[in-house]
Amino acid sequence: MAENDDLKALIRTILDFPKPGIQFRDITTLLLDAQGFASAIARMAAATRGPVDLVAGIEARGFIFAAALAAPLNAGVLLIRKDGKLPGATIAEDYALEYGTDRIAVHEDALAPGQRVLLVDDLIATGGTARAAVRLLRKAGGLVEQAQFLVDLPDLGGADALRADGLAVDSLIGFPGH
Ligand code: AMP
Repeated sequence: MAENDDLKALIRTILDFPKPGIQFRDITTLLLDAQGFASAIARMAAATRGPVDLVAGIEARGFIFAAALAAPLNAGVLLIRKDGKLPGATIAEDYALEYGTDRIAVHEDALAPGQRVLLVDDLIATGGTARAAVRLLRKAGGLVEQAQFLVDLPDLGGADALRADGLAVDSLIGFPGH
């Protein structure tokens, strides 16, 4: 990952957001940098393994990366939204938060059976969100074999958990700790 230190330098860390003890990795500063954002997308596209039909982004920051990756990968964009936001008939998946649960959804007709889906988000931490997204996309008929993140927090184990779910997982940047 040392080759992406130029991009790492564009990510700002904000301590104690949204609650004490969290080091929030703020990617908005990378997005503001024209060359940095373009390089991030080019490197994520280059790391993609084989052709994909759809790039699935997780609300909200995942949408930015999924949308930008779609053109270079010649793929469509599939939105994974918080429950209650999509207008058509949906299928949903629940996942555990520290306190309580959350629910994500896709349109039930967003995927044709067997379509190859690349899952994308800005950051993977515990992997709870991404693993629920994989379950949801597979339930909807998708072939989900790879995921890409700009940032991985490897000590939290999310990327390894996704690998145990059968995915190839790539990220450009890693930060130690929480
Ligand atoms: P998780 O489900 O634990 O893998 O959390 C992933 C989601 O939470 C992603 O959509 C991230 O944008 C966000 N997130 C979790 N931890 C952080 C962090 N330290 N800095 C910035 N975003 C985070």
